[in-house]
Amino acid sequence: MKTTKINKLISTLNPMDYSTESDILEKHCVDWRGEYVGSSDLIIFPKNTKQISSILQFCHRENIQIVPQGGNTGLVGGGVPRKNHKEVIINLSRMNKIRKIDPIGNSITLESGCILDNVKNELIKYEFEFPLSMGSRGNCQIGGNLATNAGGVNVIKYGTIRQSVMGIEAVFASGKIYSSLKNIKKNNTGFDLKNLLIGSEGTLGIITAATIQLYPLPKEKIVIWVSFNIFSKVLDFYVYMNKKFKDLITSFEFMNKESIEVLEKHECKLNNLKRNQCYCLVELSNFNQIDNFSNFIASSIEPNMFENDEFIISKSEEENRKFWNYRESIPLAERKENFIIPHDVSIPLVNIDKFVNDTTKKIKLFSRSSKIINFGHLGDNNLHFNVLINDSEKKNKQSIKRSVNQIVFDYVSKYEGAISAEHGIGQLRIEELKKHKDYNEIETMKNIKKVFDPKNILNPGKIF
Ligand SMILES: Cc1cc2nc3c(=O)[nH]c(=O)nc-3n(C[C@H](O)[C@H](O)[C@H](O)COP(=O)(O)OP(=O)(O)OC[C@H]3O[C@@H](n4cnc5c(N)ncnc54)[C@H](O)[C@@H]3O)c2cc1C
Repeated sequence: MKTTKINKLISTLNPMDYSTESDILEKHCVDWRGEYVGSSDLIIFPKNTKQISSILQFCHRENIQIVPQGGNTGLVGGGVPRKNHKEVIINLSRMNKIRKIDPIGNSITLESGCILDNVKNELIKYEFEFPLSMGSRGNCQIGGNLATNAGGVNVIKYGTIRQSVMGIEAVFASGKIYSSLKNIKKNNTGFDLKNLLIGSEGTLGIITAATIQLYPLPKEKIVIWVSFNIFSKVLDFYVYMNKKFKDLITSFEFMNKESIEVLEKHECKLNNLKRNQCYCLVELSNFNQIDNFSNFIASSIEPNMFENDEFIISKSEEENRKFWNYRESIPLAERKENFIIPHDVSIPLVNIDKFVNDTTKKIKLFSRSSKIINFGHLGDNNLHFNVLINDSEKKNKQSIKRSVNQIVFDYVSKYEGAISAEHGIGQLRIEELKKHKDYNEIETMKNIKKVFDPKNILNPGKIF
């Protein structure tokens, strides 16, 4: 049943710009993993920044709470309304124009609703690389990427998206428009509001557009697939590759045996490849117009270096895609399991081996038949350390989750990591944030939130 306030808001909108239909609302109220199912009476699809400004002015006056939503691929329940709270969804998908490509300043200015993959493909025509890529690129949007400070598979080369953002346009809770789409790298004019908006998960403002730094499109990319019988060799390999190829490395991904098992169970087989304990996928990009790049890579590696391990250098774009498909299909395979407890953690590389060993041992003591599906962006210290719980142990899901989370996050603290590397806090990690982040830092964050959004209408119940 819609409230009078929501009906009043609807009366200000063009019927083409919103929906109250239950099947549309239902689709937008559930997150990608199907873990968070919220409710809402209204979803708005604004077309421009001015329209968002008038909607927020109205919502601010009438105390209507809203959720900004991009491609809804977030993994922490941040982009959907909460159960029984009926926030209005503001979905950015129609704000999908590229406003400008600047070939001199090497930048793009684009609206929040642009889908990441579309942007990347468009930029190929201009021989530019967009500095972000990840498995969800066919659905996630630039606004969502900025609001989550997305990481993905190229952080080792370009950093998280924050490192490439030059300017932002956003609408604050009051409806005021903040526009700083400056195509400049240096701007020391007081506090940097854009950096507060990046990673704020829709709690400080609705991001409507951004100017992002672009990079030269490499002439070609080569993927190396390696497997080892022991984790310590992965780290040795990482150090070795960094010394050899530092600036050419654009991805360094890790997968353990259980990740490949779940992949083979639900998605695809590793054709003709050795089954092993640990796997790495390394992408090298030819930025320097090196002739016969594949030969250059092969000849730079000492003979016999990997003679006891499987070591394959891709020979074609098709083979690159095949290896990437193995890595990127792991989250899709995991989704088909019944009970996975996900963790997206960051651990200093020097502690990763100890973290994995200690945490795995303790989890096995708690649940003997559990499996650790451990994969991720190793080059950025980022592991998706996901615990698969056996069917017979699923009686008390909530209590199992609490115990496993406690084990994992206590070791994250012990080994000086972060409880969320790239997915954010959303609804999923509110309790852990309270426990593992410094009290004063959280209080300062809350005070900042009050300045931006004194009535708490922007994505309430997320992060805090
Ligand atoms: C298969 C798969 C692989 C993934 N791989 C990675 C990965 O490698 N690295 C990584 O970082 N993430 C990854 N993710 C998570 C997800 O894709 C990212 O968090 C992405 O940046 C979210 O973008 P989105 O448009 O889907 O945002 P949504 O899910 O719609 O929203 C995410 C958050 O941003 C807020 N938001 C969305 N748009 C705006 C806006 N315009 N203004 C203000 N707030 C907004 C929402 O309120 C919410 O809090 C993956 C997800 C999947 C499903």
